[in-house]
Amino acid sequence: MSLLEVRDLTAGHGLLTAVREMSFEVREGETVALVGANGAGKTTLLRTLAGAHHATSGSVVFDGADVTHLPAYKRVRRGVALVPEGRRLFGDMTVEENLLVAGRRARPGPWTLQRVLEAFPMLEPLRGRRGASLSGGEQQATSIGRALMTNPRLLLVDEVSLGLSPVAVDAVYASLAHLTDDDGATLVLVEQDLGRALTVADRVICVLEGRIVLEAPSDRITRDEVTAAYFGVD
Ligand code: ATP
Repeated sequence: MSLLEVRDLTAGHGLLTAVREMSFEVREGETVALVGANGAGKTTLLRTLAGAHHATSGSVVFDGADVTHLPAYKRVRRGVALVPEGRRLFGDMTVEENLLVAGRRARPGPWTLQRVLEAFPMLEPLRGRRGASLSGGEQQATSIGRALMTNPRLLLVDEVSLGLSPVAVDAVYASLAHLTDDDGATLVLVEQDLGRALTVADRVICVLEGRIVLEAPSDRITRDEVTAAYFGVD
């Protein structure tokens, strides 16, 4: 059964329609990469799935229930977590406080502060450091850890590599692979690096000007085909 069913979803910013009648499904345990040029609508889509942005029309069904009109915190309680673009930590709070605050709204599950620190050993010595003083990679690990503290069934991850060093990107992707392989997590991630998207995802969805223009299993599509869809080349 699909964990997530998106039907004719439309969302925008004022007069601008950023997500146009998008329909797709994500099965439990699957990793789906969303690719597309800047401004294609990927961030708006993820935020609409998380309840951080409202849908104009269409529906979002999570685990068989229509959550289209549920506020973000209620979706979190059902197991939908967003790792937002730009990390958005509480800069004045410590790493530990950032994690514990997220845990307060958690649904019951295996993720605790201890487990997050085990999953991201780099965070252990940083527990008492303020969010604002961390490097990009450290912030990203904290941001993912924060989402995990809510015990998600579906993790929505927006441009996790943005602004990180290649080493930090590898470390973050290694931790995501660990989540999918060992914990059976379901992931929808926005990734600008097409090579990386094809490597980590089971399926790739390419978005152009708010519409899905290509959807394919990543082992049945080439990088050139994704690139052509990305730029709208026939
Ligand atoms: P990026 O990779 O740059 O984040 P994206 O594919 O995630 O791009 P969105 O950020 O969802 O795309 O943007 C889709 C469209 O909505 C763009 O035309 C963008 O300019 C517009 N947009 C996004 N956020 C806002 C906002 N807060 N107010 C007005 N327009 C916005």
